[in-house]
Amino acid sequence: LAVVVTVPSAAATAPVYLDPGAPIERRVSDLLGRMTLQEKIGQMTQAERAAVADDPTQVAAQRLGSLLSGGGSVPADNTPAGWVKMINTFQAEALRTRLKIPLIYGVDAVHGHNNVYGATVFPHNVGLGATRDPRLAEKIGQATAAEVRATGVPWNFAPCLCVSLDERWGRSYESFGEDPALASNMSTVIDGLQGRGGRLDRDDRVLATAKHFAGDGGTAYDTAIAEANEGKPWWEQRYPIDQGVTVTGQSGFYRTHVAPYLPALKGHDVGSVMPSFSSVDWTEDGIGDPIKMHANHDLLTGVLKGRLGFDGFVISDWEGIHQIPDPAEPGNTGLTAHKVRTGVNAGIDMFMEPNSAPQFQELLLAEVEAGRVSRARVDDAVRRILTAKFRLGLFENPYAGLDDIDRVGSAGHRTLAREAVATSQVLLKNRGGTLPLGGKSSVYVAGRNADDIGNQAGGWTMTWQGESGDIIPGTTILEGIRQVAPKAKITYSEDASAPIKRSDVGVVVVGETPYAEGYGDVGGPECGWCSVPQQEEKSLTLQPADQATVDKVCAAVDRCVVLVVSGRPQIVADPHGRIDALVASWLPGSEGAGVADVLFGRRPFTGRLPVSWPATADQVPINIGDAHYRPLYPFGWGLRTHPRSGNAASRPLDNAESRALDKAQAAVVRGRAPANWAELIAGADHALLTGDRATALRLLARVGG
Ligand code: BGC
Repeated sequence: LAVVVTVPSAAATAPVYLDPGAPIERRVSDLLGRMTLQEKIGQMTQAERAAVADDPTQVAAQRLGSLLSGGGSVPADNTPAGWVKMINTFQAEALRTRLKIPLIYGVDAVHGHNNVYGATVFPHNVGLGATRDPRLAEKIGQATAAEVRATGVPWNFAPCLCVSLDERWGRSYESFGEDPALASNMSTVIDGLQGRGGRLDRDDRVLATAKHFAGDGGTAYDTAIAEANEGKPWWEQRYPIDQGVTVTGQSGFYRTHVAPYLPALKGHDVGSVMPSFSSVDWTEDGIGDPIKMHANHDLLTGVLKGRLGFDGFVISDWEGIHQIPDPAEPGNTGLTAHKVRTGVNAGIDMFMEPNSAPQFQELLLAEVEAGRVSRARVDDAVRRILTAKFRLGLFENPYAGLDDIDRVGSAGHRTLAREAVATSQVLLKNRGGTLPLGGKSSVYVAGRNADDIGNQAGGWTMTWQGESGDIIPGTTILEGIRQVAPKAKITYSEDASAPIKRSDVGVVVVGETPYAEGYGDVGGPECGWCSVPQQEEKSLTLQPADQATVDKVCAAVDRCVVLVVSGRPQIVADPHGRIDALVASWLPGSEGAGVADVLFGRRPFTGRLPVSWPATADQVPINIGDAHYRPLYPFGWGLRTHPRSGNAASRPLDNAESRALDKAQAAVVRGRAPANWAELIAGADHALLTGDRATALRLLARVGG
């Protein structure tokens, strides 16, 4: 009888989870089998950078699985190199733990790597929605991932797949638009972030997060139930506010708010999903018991992980579980055992607990030990988190180097951003072919958003709320005009106090100042944290000072162009019909030259409205498909121009075809056309852009052109 004795080699004793050659599933199981309950709970915890910055040893002490930078939470040295250094410091602490499990660091790079000084800042999603270009979104995702990963960050809390149904919502600019199909199409940004099919196979990819699941853009506005707000915490109040209640029937909820997640999950294989702060109320009349998405087992576990087969992990939003009502302690806005248990059992895998990580861990440990949260649920959560860490290659390459930091704000990325800006501009009105302007025009530029890069970047730029002024490197719209039209005679006066010549072309750039999250329209409770003047954020009517600048310049010149730099439609008064051309510029970001490119005809205007543009403030909310839909400009609206020089991005129509299209658009704008014309026109233009002339002509024939 031969006895075979195997002497374990050094390699064979190394744990399987550290073997890069082993399949990820085996590595995860191996590692999970070695972990204590405390270590598992550590993996389920995400703390804020600021909470451990003074004492990084806390990363190991609390066995943290993850850290985040909330909007504007940045290292003192807020350069790409400063970020690499910061993240490596935290990572070294994580790797001091018994099992050496690397951290996964997350940021909100929602329009480029917007927390880092020097990064390329792309247009906010509302502008990308206007481009109708999924390929462009993918390229922007890729460029963003390249910049984010270069600074040592492997995870991005983006994109927002919200369908914004009420522009009084303070986050509507984070939405690609009001149409679920549009949000679905633009979710290709995930392919750019992660690599197609969620491959995460290169060092310029990051894990993406589809957020906020689901219904964040559909919170209800109803003054009739305003009294019901009395005495309630702000997140239980019923306004079109951030974090409110989405009142909708079940099928409408799926059709509108869940639909954009289908391609994100199936086609793009998004790695993480963040639940919405909002609640959902299935009763059509909005008198049911709203359920917080963070507590919604049916939707997070039943639908998302079950029916839709999501195999990534769910990350709660910032203290999201604190908002779960605890029947035993109704007034408690902090953490309780009930909230922790409900969140974990609903299907949340990792908990964004910026400043209460130790308390969260203590409560969860007790709940597991008491059997109210199963060990299997904990294992499932940790398995999902570890799988992402392995897929990102963090076990092999936990540290970032400085080799790639010149990707941040690179010329190539800025060129892409400039292209995106140009493509996102929507020409709403263009009387007598005012635009494009000739390169030698005399131009009088005015308005507070003409030369303010902070305003044109909007919220989530350097700080959470964003800020006016010279906060990032880049090009303002005024600087862009000077670059693009060096032979034009430019006069600039922010408040239009310089003499204006009648022969000048007026270009007035007005709109909003930055804000993030927060409340909607008047009537809602005061916003507790916003830095912007309340009136401005709550209203879609142009600010009086902006309107005065428009009035003054447009009365003084023969031809007047108004550019609206804002996260959402603005009501611009023009009782005397003095505005010749009106442009929705959205929040273009760092490359204002893209606006100048379309103004001066270096590129054509091709953008389409991603949201309906109301005629009056009291029409809001207004969405395509509404009964009595009479917006000033419908969803899908956008006039074309043809480039004066340079490469035509579109194949021009011949004269007769152009006239037919103009006639059809005029009928739409006068309310004399069937409701589907605007989209048919948009479809025709899109077909033209992709070179599909036959389809364009077929669609135009259907609008009677
Ligand atoms: C926002 C999320 C964001 C998180 C982390 C929250 O306030 O709702 O969208 O990802 O903060 O910054």
